[in-house]
Amino acid sequence: ERSSHSIVSLSNGSRANLPVIDLDPGNPTVFEEYWRRMGDKCRVEIPGCDLMSYKAPTGNVCWFLLPELVEAIRGLYRVVGNAVVDERHLVVGTGSRQVFQAALYALSTPASLKPIHVVSAAPYYSSYPEETDYLCSRLYKWGGDAKQYDTNKSGAFIEVVNSPNNPDGCMRLPVVEDSFGQGKLIHDLAYYWPQFTPITSPADHHLMYFTFSKCTGHAGSRIRWALVKDREVAVKMTTYIELNSLGVSKDSQFRTAKIIELLCNDYQKFGLDVSNSFFEYGNRVMAERWKNLRDVIGRSDVFSLPTFERQYCCFLGRPSRPYPAFAWLKCKEEIEDCGSFLRGYKYRRAKREAFWS
Ligand code: PMP
Repeated sequence: ERSSHSIVSLSNGSRANLPVIDLDPGNPTVFEEYWRRMGDKCRVEIPGCDLMSYKAPTGNVCWFLLPELVEAIRGLYRVVGNAVVDERHLVVGTGSRQVFQAALYALSTPASLKPIHVVSAAPYYSSYPEETDYLCSRLYKWGGDAKQYDTNKSGAFIEVVNSPNNPDGCMRLPVVEDSFGQGKLIHDLAYYWPQFTPITSPADHHLMYFTFSKCTGHAGSRIRWALVKDREVAVKMTTYIELNSLGVSKDSQFRTAKIIELLCNDYQKFGLDVSNSFFEYGNRVMAERWKNLRDVIGRSDVFSLPTFERQYCCFLGRPSRPYPAFAWLKCKEEIEDCGSFLRGYKYRRAKREAFWS
């Protein structure tokens, strides 16, 4: 099919009322207004003598994880119901790249003669190949589109399942046919939050990770965490982070814990009337942005957007549609490269091929 795609970020900026489509890489400042309204409620003060140690007073496998953050994250999943958190080890990292590398390290085999292939079904998050290969590791290497991966020819693999998927917003399951049980899975659930997609059931995978960046929009804190079933894997991930950065900023962990706590308290306070909760607010904002974008795209013969079915969201307690943080914009037949076409009309586009937010 002669068509091409470009990605529009719907999660950056707060300029929903202006007739501007900003194709810059998404920066999830879209929720800034909500946090501004929270005023001093999220203010954190850290006395000079606090949080000085590398270690955290914790019995966790992840020895630098603050107990306040453990409590907050576990509470958050109890409120939102988007992942199974009981009997899971929590591992905290600095942003997705560190946690991704930690997961690859933990799932690969140092004694193996060949690097294990890392794959994801196309269209995949465009940073995965670069993140996998930039260290030229002898443990793992990028193996391309999971849909094309042949285990008989190429052997063991790690499949990254990003659900909802950046860039096309679809919910995903693993795709590699793994008749000989040679595969390992990483579930990147960055966008599995009620503002972006209906929460249909708690995710329950061996290794899944989430990010504070997309959960509340606080990308600057660089807090990401993994929920890991297998203790050995959690230990190896912790070792990677220990060797890489000797832990994760306690200041950031502390602030993250405070913000998540506030979010959960609000929900508990408002009970079933979640209209004032952060996620309900986020869902409304995303719905409005999608409406605006669909209105504009609907006037064009050239572009189209994916459509998504309504599904019951257990958290919102009503049917809802996916409102992905990205729009997978499709150009019709006669245009071969959607990106160049938009550039021709002076739409701003990401500076690099790898779109990220
Ligand atoms: N994973 C995916 C699928 C993403 O889309 C993004 C942001 N664009 C990230 C990871 C980055 O997350 P973080 O801020 O935690 O590094």
